Amino acid sequence: MDTIQKKDIRALSREELKSFFTERGDKAFRGDQVFEWLWKKGAHSFEDMTNLSKETRAMLMDHYVINHIKVDNMQRSTDGTIKNAVRLHDGLIVESVLIPTASRTTACVSSQVGCSLDCKFCATSRLKRMRNLNPDEIYDQVVAIDRQSRLYHGRPLSNIVFMGMGEPLMNYNNLLKSIEKITGNEGLGMSPKRITVSTSGVPKMIRKMADDEVKFKLAVSLHSAIDSVRTSIMPFNATFTLEELRESLIYWYQKTKSRITYEYVVWEGINDTQKDVDALINFCKFAPSKVNLIEYNPIDDGIFQQADDSALSLYVNALEKSGITVTIRRSRGKDIDAACGQLANKS
Ligand code: SAH
Repeated sequence: MDTIQKKDIRALSREELKSFFTERGDKAFRGDQVFEWLWKKGAHSFEDMTNLSKETRAMLMDHYVINHIKVDNMQRSTDGTIKNAVRLHDGLIVESVLIPTASRTTACVSSQVGCSLDCKFCATSRLKRMRNLNPDEIYDQVVAIDRQSRLYHGRPLSNIVFMGMGEPLMNYNNLLKSIEKITGNEGLGMSPKRITVSTSGVPKMIRKMADDEVKFKLAVSLHSAIDSVRTSIMPFNATFTLEELRESLIYWYQKTKSRITYEYVVWEGINDTQKDVDALINFCKFAPSKVNLIEYNPIDDGIFQQADDSALSLYVNALEKSGITVTIRRSRGKDIDAACGQLANKS
């Protein structure tokens, strides 16, 4: 049988694995054994499954493949950040990042190869979207970073942000399946409260998430609350307008009562005036909100420039006065192009 036609065994549930064996006149517990190898022991090949007979392993190999990701290249920053270039079974590459701070280790993972959105300031947007990642490919990135966290920082992974390559809400079903594995007892057993999904703002999907009563946190990459400005830097805003986005967020808050985080970069000459600040406050005051002012990471074209500290103070003072939580987030891993918006498979 040709490898391409074989199915990835990890798409099978425990029950399906058991049936695979019983249908062949074998014991159901073989299915449990294989399941444990795949999900508890992280086996990358059938050869690893040493408590199965040679014949059983060969039989599995005849029917299935294990399309495990492979960390092709690991780069470590002087600040402890690690960037992985992750090779997928079809040769495509995505990137994921481990970000350590004093109290936590955060995995920043990718959800798509490339991205279909066209944010002018983001390196990933230049790659175009090649395909969605499947749930295992997302899950594997998290497991790889958890191992690196234990190895290099002596503690397990504590948080996950979907802020790598891609727009997670445009790969929604696979995103949910990967989070089920990450939070489930048969996966990593992490709390969904430690997971943040970051979106550029797809109103229909934000409503769907609210209806699905998801338990993870939501972050929205806003960058401007004025339509003309936002459309000039995030052209899809012409389709998904701020008004629609805001209505979907109101819906989200009514259903989940979960605070919304906004990601926001302040650029010189783009969104650094009082008018921009007022629009932001007006946009997010309907619910408890937090604004993360993220540092701009240049992507080599010189069009965008980080605004100076006085523009940041304008934002910080006004937001605080309006009772909106605000933080200034300095970037990590810049020396290895691992910071927000820099993931573009340079290696
Ligand atoms: N598509 C999703 C997740 C990926 S981007 C989203 O848009 O939220 C992760 C974050 O990095 C987003 O907040 C994005 O706006 C921000 N970002 C992109 N390019 C950046 C850059 N060059 N400097 C700083 N932040 C950037």
